[in-house]
Amino acid sequence: MSDLTNTQALATQVGGHAGVTTTEDGSLLIKPALPRELEFYQKLQGDSALDELRAFIPNFIGTLRLEGQVDPAHPDLAEGIVLQQTAATDQKDMSLFLFLSMSFVNSIVLENLSYPFLKPNILDIKLGTILYDETADEEKVARMIKTARETTSLETGVRLTGFQVYDNVTSLPVNTPKSYGKSIRADQLGEGIAKFFPVGTPVPTDAAAVPAPSSGLPRETLVPILRAIRDEVALVREVFSEIEMRMVGGSLLVIYEADWARAEEGIKRYLADDDEEEEEEEEADDEENASKRPGPPFVVKLIDFAHTRFVPGQGPDEGVLLGMDTVLKLLDARLKDIEAS
Ligand code: ADP
Ligand code: MN
Repeated sequence: MSDLTNTQALATQVGGHAGVTTTEDGSLLIKPALPRELEFYQKLQGDSALDELRAFIPNFIGTLRLEGQVDPAHPDLAEGIVLQQTAATDQKDMSLFLFLSMSFVNSIVLENLSYPFLKPNILDIKLGTILYDETADEEKVARMIKTARETTSLETGVRLTGFQVYDNVTSLPVNTPKSYGKSIRADQLGEGIAKFFPVGTPVPTDAAAVPAPSSGLPRETLVPILRAIRDEVALVREVFSEIEMRMVGGSLLVIYEADWARAEEGIKRYLADDDEEEEEEEEADDEENASKRPGPPFVVKLIDFAHTRFVPGQGPDEGVLLGMDTVLKLLDARLKDIEAS
């Protein structure tokens, strides 16, 4: 079990507010709990109608609350940090459980999606055309409508919130902040996607001849990873279109491996596993073998449900679906571009 008393800021955070931390080993992520987000994760746990959606959302480990005395000057030194693991809660217990947890819970604990990667390239794409929820006051509604109109959000349903891409020379992540995504027009989204999916060239071993910093995977690795990411986004879209919810301010988080050897091996294994599954129903994978495997070559998930709610009978979130369609077009265009070059 991860040590929950010794946390640090999430180094790989590419968007959002400060306050996201990880456990010491980096495997789990701790985010201050807002009632809506907690409610969302609780419902996701207990509702079998959401089984398919759950596959595209980080694993929910549980909630954290502080017990006993907390010195306000040193809240990190609090002794009684209690992890409430999620139990398979049945509907009848749900409202009481929600009431209790929302009264005391400080944080939610999630799977850190970047943890299995050696060098995670990470992109946070904010989805949707409406960036305020129904509890926002008049002033906030006006401000968020203006923000959507002045950025790519209203027209395309996406905004590039932020991303990090590893530099092949320094082996360090290079961050593009949210000011970039806020400043570009819809017709420049393709450039942004190209920055996140650059085609890499080999790094010279001769230190005297260091070229301009280069990032990205070789095209023969990048192309199949891009295709697989594209297919995954199409799956997310399909599942999401069946669910009646409003996801305000949520994101699609795309991560892929920037380490050349890992990425190449990962995508080969991914494609081989895919073939196997088609032939024979998954043969009992012995657990020991599975745990030795390196991480996946990529991951695509929905994150940030601080302003998400379910709206039975009102249909899917059209603004978010528009955003997913935009992402699909951008990925198709990037693939075409690379293949033509
Ligand atoms: P906020 O409400 O502050 O926007 P988010 O849930 O969007 O919070 O998280 C902020 C950032 O933290 C994201 O942009 C992403 O970089 C990172 N992040 C969030 N959830 C995860 C996760 N489960 N795994 C890895 N990184 C995450
Ligand atoms: Mn966010």
